[in-house]
Amino acid sequence: MAAAVQNGHGEAELLDYEEEVEEQVTSNGSAEADQNQEPMDDGDRVVMHTPYHGHVSLHTAGFRDMLLKPEILKGIFDAGFEHPSQVQAECIPKAMSGVDILCQAKSGMGKTAVFVISTLQMIDPQATTQPTVLVLAPTRELAYQIAAQYRRFRRHLRGIRIGLFYGGTPLLGDIQNLRAGPVHIVLGTPGRLKALVRERVLNLSHIKHFIVDECDKVLGQLDMQSDVHEIFLATPFEKQVMMFSATYQTAVLQDCRKYLSKEAFEVLVEDPAKLVLKRLVQHYKQVTEDKKYRMLKDVLDVIEWNQVIIFVNTVTRASTLGTLLSEEMTEVIMIHSAMAQEERLARYQQFVDYRKRILVATDLFGRGMDIERVNVVINYDCPTNPDQYLHRIARAGRFGTCGLAVTFVASDVDAQKLNDIQDRYDTDISALPDQLDPSLYTSEEAAESSSPDSIDSAN
Ligand code: AMP
Repeated sequence: MAAAVQNGHGEAELLDYEEEVEEQVTSNGSAEADQNQEPMDDGDRVVMHTPYHGHVSLHTAGFRDMLLKPEILKGIFDAGFEHPSQVQAECIPKAMSGVDILCQAKSGMGKTAVFVISTLQMIDPQATTQPTVLVLAPTRELAYQIAAQYRRFRRHLRGIRIGLFYGGTPLLGDIQNLRAGPVHIVLGTPGRLKALVRERVLNLSHIKHFIVDECDKVLGQLDMQSDVHEIFLATPFEKQVMMFSATYQTAVLQDCRKYLSKEAFEVLVEDPAKLVLKRLVQHYKQVTEDKKYRMLKDVLDVIEWNQVIIFVNTVTRASTLGTLLSEEMTEVIMIHSAMAQEERLARYQQFVDYRKRILVATDLFGRGMDIERVNVVINYDCPTNPDQYLHRIARAGRFGTCGLAVTFVASDVDAQKLNDIQDRYDTDISALPDQLDPSLYTSEEAAESSSPDSIDSAN
């Protein structure tokens, strides 16, 4: 449950979820862009089905064919997007038609832009001073990142105000923000949004689009699920619901469907093997627990990395490893949920801005986080389940770029987990060779085109 704690003002404040779960985890571009191009292939074809309405035809349009507002189109080309990815080509037109959507696609292939672009298209800031778009995300960093995407595509649109709300910051600040003027798009973590609804400062009675990103995580965790439910009940009956994730456990899929209409458009990847990013090279390294640190430094010495994320399973381990490593290397930074929120975001921004190049993190950073220059992920601690593995390694190899994932295997239990991962995704994870050809996991194109996606803090 999201625990209520007393803050300095004697007010109840909600802790965010990851703070409780982490320890359990041990276990212009070119306006000339060719509009007739096929959508960028997200790898293998996704299997699409609308369970209630049968066959769905493929959309092969470019962004121009989507009849978007010119200001949005300009924002898209400014962002350097030339062609829609497959999930965008399939889902943006559907989303703009107003149907409910349940969307599964590979991590890093542009799911965020589906709901950001479609809701910006559908929003009419003149129609009401109350929010009409609500976006929920499981972590504060992801909510922050989504807000940045909205600001990026909203650049040329006038009068759309975004409200970003998450725990770990004074509730009073959020209340003042909401009272300062109309907010059209509300996004944040469920606990804080629920608190604002309860305080009666956040009016959701005009919501037309209800979006849950990483919905299997949000609805798969009981405390978040109950918060989402409460928020959902504060919104009108008639609305569009959109849910997105790369992974869905069957049970959670059923929970997601409870929020969706029977006519929902579903894009599901039926074969888990197709969720693995094609240009990501995967290896494991066998090592005993006491030699992991030495091994980590050896690996960092021999591979060519641009930015690296090193995943561990607990806050304590993140803190210990991060401290140890930063004593030896200045480019190291760590993020975990035991840090003050401001510090967390400041560190995130340093990594995004390329001021730090090695990030030691817990699974707080495992989902949705999109840092363009990350080409290597190291699982210092073996992930506890295949989905966690998939989300972690997808931090490298974003949007079709190359990447490398190395997983340390330190016990029979780890070896079994690795086998489970290979079985689930029908993928072969081989031992890390002494010599690895860097061209396999470094992407010139990505390195050249990268620019820091810095956050515009103004609304
Ligand atoms: P996402 O899967 O939404 O986290 O997106 C992964 C990355 O792909 C982000 O850096 C996006 O900016 C980028 N991206 C998404 N769609 C496109 C596109 N159509 N063209 C180029 N880059 C894109």
